[in-house]
Amino acid sequence: MRFQSTRDADAKKYSSAEVIVKGLADDGGLFVPEYIPRLTISDIEDMTSLSYIELAARVLGLFLSDHTYDELYSDCSLAYGKTNFPSDVCELREICDDTYSLELWHGPTCAFKDVALTLMPHLLVRSMKKAGDERNALILVATSGDTGKAALEGYKDIEGIKLAVFYPKNGVSAVQKLQMATQTGDNLYACGVEGNFDDIQTAVKQIFSSPESALEISKQGYFLSSANSINFGRLAPQIVYYVKAYCDLVRGGIIALGDEINVCVPTGNFGNILAAYIAKLMGIPIKKLICASNSNNVLTDFFSSGRYDRNRQFYTTISPSMDILISSNLERLIYLISGPEKTARYMRSLSEVGYYQISDDEKDEIDRSFVGYCADEDRIRATIKKYYDRYGYLMDTHTAVAFSAIDDHRSQTGDRTKVVVASTASPYKFAADVYAALTGDTAEGSIEALRLLSELTKSEIPEPLRDIDKKKIRFSDCASKESIYERVMEFIK
Ligand SMILES: *Cc1c(COP(=O)(O)O)cnc(C)c1O
Repeated sequence: MRFQSTRDADAKKYSSAEVIVKGLADDGGLFVPEYIPRLTISDIEDMTSLSYIELAARVLGLFLSDHTYDELYSDCSLAYGKTNFPSDVCELREICDDTYSLELWHGPTCAFKDVALTLMPHLLVRSMKKAGDERNALILVATSGDTGKAALEGYKDIEGIKLAVFYPKNGVSAVQKLQMATQTGDNLYACGVEGNFDDIQTAVKQIFSSPESALEISKQGYFLSSANSINFGRLAPQIVYYVKAYCDLVRGGIIALGDEINVCVPTGNFGNILAAYIAKLMGIPIKKLICASNSNNVLTDFFSSGRYDRNRQFYTTISPSMDILISSNLERLIYLISGPEKTARYMRSLSEVGYYQISDDEKDEIDRSFVGYCADEDRIRATIKKYYDRYGYLMDTHTAVAFSAIDDHRSQTGDRTKVVVASTASPYKFAADVYAALTGDTAEGSIEALRLLSELTKSEIPEPLRDIDKKKIRFSDCASKESIYERVMEFIK
């Protein structure tokens, strides 16, 4: 399998190892596979008997052809064993009629990003060897919370890689801050920054795009790499759990092989739902992909009008990991529908004037697979309470956006197709807002909220979040946004 940029009409080809090492194409486009590999119904039938690790090695092998099956199997065993995922990588739970929650948060940091970020470091190490780069990798992460901790945990003590995380000092929850500050591992650095997420993202992007800083970093024996979902190596592991969910429904006798399901995903950067779309293109019988947004509903508007317009108010919500106005991975969908010339044109328009409009034909094609809904803050809270009161199911603020979307979809269309809802974080990760949604009361601080939520719902605080306030603080640095580059250089010297 070879790859190309979403914006390159000449379709220059790259190997999968190069794609993982580089992260982003030189023309600013994202790497996409040159074709989508197909699974037949009998392939899917064979897959129903595989463990998560076997299935992951099989599915990933279709894309990452520089890696052998044995290499992928060994890397997936390291990532997806009992150390990181004591129960299993994903758990499918029946919540009510025809509705299944695909819990993706039983990993080391209690959010779905663990599934990709526990594996990605292993993929990167091998890809560096295969691509023949002798230097070490320096990964810079700008985060509003979840990615930072998941990346720190995933890259901890991986040889040949250093990772630095910068987060807004006053823009993450107390739990998230403690999670990062108490991180162990000798190759890591975390630093709070005076400024908001956009400031940090801009500063980090400047380091990435500056030839001078690349040279200085190279002199220290490093090259820059990224860990966010624009990297195909981060996206590919997310395809696996949609295949697994389908296989589990078949194996459990809940559907017959070949029956169609719907998939509903709470969406920010469009990575997780794009992975579900790739599973559909591969041949997993998925009818509709239901794209769920919070008040930052730029995608809901796109799916209803065909116009993507980021010129709008930005809202800070109780589902912060979805507070985003530029959904980077949408570019891959546009490419799959419209090809590289149009993608390049639309993306230029997005960066120059902040919007683009797709054609009616393109919109029809997208409508065949996608539909979008959004939920405001009150609706998110009401959904958490409804599902807890009626079905005893406790969900976080992001997952609630998806459950609200599925309620809307059913009432507006009458579609009763069985649905798999991606559940993206443990309710404890957003305990204060979940507790408030259930009781109307506010807890005094996030740590207190963990305890109160546990008492109220008689459920256990997940191990990674337990006693988090008693762990040793390792990182207490605070930087101005102007000094991020200096901090990076101090860290690698
Ligand atoms: C990152 C994140 C999302 C959004 O996922 P995308 O791939 O960016 O669409 C949703 N929920 C949680 C809890 C997240 O951390």
